[in-house]
Amino acid sequence: MSMQNDDIPLSRPDLSEIEVEAVLNVLRSGRLSIGPVQEEFESLVARRTGRSHAVAVSSGTAGLHLALIALGVGPGDEVITTPFSFIASANAILYVGAKPVFVDIDSQSLNMNPAKLQTAITSRTKAILAVEAFGNPAHMDDYRRIAAQHEIPLIEDACEGLGGAWRDRPIGSFGRVAVFGFYPNKQITTGEGGMIVTDDDTLADLCRSLRNQGRRTPTIDDSTDAGSWLAHERLGYNYRLSEIAAAIGVGQMKRLDQLLDCRREVAETYMRHLMGNEFLVLPTIEPAVDMSWFVFVVRLTEEFNANERDRVIMGMRRHDIGAAAYFPCIHLQPFYRELFGYKPGDFPIAERVSQRTIALPFHNRLTERECDLVSQTLELMISRENLKRT
Ligand SMILES: *Cc1c(COP(=O)(O)O)cnc(C)c1O
Repeated sequence: MSMQNDDIPLSRPDLSEIEVEAVLNVLRSGRLSIGPVQEEFESLVARRTGRSHAVAVSSGTAGLHLALIALGVGPGDEVITTPFSFIASANAILYVGAKPVFVDIDSQSLNMNPAKLQTAITSRTKAILAVEAFGNPAHMDDYRRIAAQHEIPLIEDACEGLGGAWRDRPIGSFGRVAVFGFYPNKQITTGEGGMIVTDDDTLADLCRSLRNQGRRTPTIDDSTDAGSWLAHERLGYNYRLSEIAAAIGVGQMKRLDQLLDCRREVAETYMRHLMGNEFLVLPTIEPAVDMSWFVFVVRLTEEFNANERDRVIMGMRRHDIGAAAYFPCIHLQPFYRELFGYKPGDFPIAERVSQRTIALPFHNRLTERECDLVSQTLELMISRENLKRT
């Protein structure tokens, strides 16, 4: 069953005439790559995150890959990261030949446990790659302090967190480098796309070159001689973002606060509807946290197992309501188990959480009545599992 067939889909982008017009303007201009719209998009994201540089790339995954290369992470190195994330955050570490070293999570914030992170650092640790799970920046200042103590860089996989903050410090401003992603289910979208942000001039230049085939000159117009556009200083990639995609991004950035407000409202509606249910654990948010709501994920209580959770999800889908198990643990994915010998029980908190999560439909146009229907259907499916057990 595809998500598109659901009456209430799991996610849906919020696009307006502003984005449509911006895309048409690019098409009319005839300049489809490496142009002024990308620069505008970059400066909007840089300003919003309080960073001196933003480098647009073709995806969040591409951004993480370039960040790791630019920091010199390679074969033999270890990078500490979370097992409870979308797989791209750990895959990027594999791309550069390094080893992801997982650290178990905190059961409230669902981000890496800072004390466990501290003890996982060895002489081979080259970087910490931290994720704001579901848009929650909890512990980012701890990670930042630990990274500084050990003189290793913090990479912030901020792909789920644009617009959030910790004590007024924006998500994307904690790491030596941070990366955002703009897939259609994120807070803002460019169809496909990503953004690297940093205050480090050298790192930013390196990322600009790496995204553009290792070139020294950013465009053919900037070439000072006939050969420089075709001079490649290093092994680069084509991780550029098109002007068409960047135009969508500019429109979305201009509407960011409005988009985030809508998401917050939907989250609050769910909270109100589901607060009283004794079989559910709702997201817990510390007072210092300004969430950027990426998804709305509830958890079944400990007495439920993974099969029961899966049946609840399938039951919701049979009612044409999108629901998903965000996220299966990365270390238990088949190729991670094969590569590194990970097994169930290695990261018990992440596993206990991930077996019981249910992501509910979450997008900006979800109405109160739809939230009500989703909540009622969820509660019905939970009651059904309870009935089977007794
Ligand atoms: C979405 C996401 C990514 C990857 O972003 P893409 O743009 O899809 O490549 C990476 N890390 C996390 C945590 C994400 O949620």
